[in-house]
Amino acid sequence: MPTFPQGSIELRVAYAVNPRLPRMTPAQLQILLQATRDTAREHFGLELRFSPTDEIPIEALFQKIPRKNERDVRKQIYDFKSGRGDPGRLARDFGQGFRQMGEPLAGMIEYVKPHVEIKEANYEALGAALAELQLQRIESWRTIRALDGGPIIDDSPYNEYMMWLALGYGEVPYELVLTNQILASVEHVYPSVHSAIRGGYSNGITTYSKSSRFGTFSIWSTFAFTAEDKWARQMRGGENYTFEEAAQLAGIGATHEIGHQLFHFMHPYGNDACVMNPVSLFAYRAWAEELSAEDCPIGSNPEMKPGAGKFHY
Ligand SMILES: [Zn+2]
Repeated sequence: MPTFPQGSIELRVAYAVNPRLPRMTPAQLQILLQATRDTAREHFGLELRFSPTDEIPIEALFQKIPRKNERDVRKQIYDFKSGRGDPGRLARDFGQGFRQMGEPLAGMIEYVKPHVEIKEANYEALGAALAELQLQRIESWRTIRALDGGPIIDDSPYNEYMMWLALGYGEVPYELVLTNQILASVEHVYPSVHSAIRGGYSNGITTYSKSSRFGTFSIWSTFAFTAEDKWARQMRGGENYTFEEAAQLAGIGATHEIGHQLFHFMHPYGNDACVMNPVSLFAYRAWAEELSAEDCPIGSNPEMKPGAGKFHY
């Protein structure tokens, strides 16, 4: 049983910037971190301190990925860019992945119900339906243009979830890596209901890190909060954010990853009071309004018990 932090904790912070994509300003990052601090105090009883934010070009960050780990994770990436992926295999792998992870089936089916019909109440049917939905919806992300006019998802591997997992094996001395990069991809492993309904989009990842103080680090993307295109707005349920609100909501949302990192909490799906309940699509304003630390104290449900989650090291 790992020990979980109490009291005052320092996290080292970086902002990894892809110059092709919209970014948050230093003033917005300040608002973001303050919101994370406030939310962690309220929901987790923790006093977070942050190092000054190191700004790094994403290209330099990705050079830290050890080549061996890159080769390993590439085998698990579903290639939607060239169209060479096998959708049948993906459907089977999703079903198997959901079964192995063993989160309660009924809660997941309830969570995805507004987006897709699950024909039978079993992991295989859930996997097949979500694999198809994810492949269909990631095409919408591909239509968005970057600042240079090219597609936001290009041939670079920065959008690939698996590459960020591989990053944890490099020399990356941070507990929190903020980035303006869009994290949207498809992989044969670790399917997740909330990522599938967003077209393979992840707002954040908490995963093994060899250089982190706590054994894992959190990656948190600001992309969804600053994107102004039609598809992203639709994913936000029509919500539009000001400069300040975007940063504020991104900071509240980042606390979810901190909960994974410091307490290994899981997802109490459908429990709207909990910061560990994943947001529906990107409707962060509606999500944040429902949060209530009083109604979701640590340990109040199985997913909110410290040590509930197991990391894939
Ligand atoms: Zn999560």
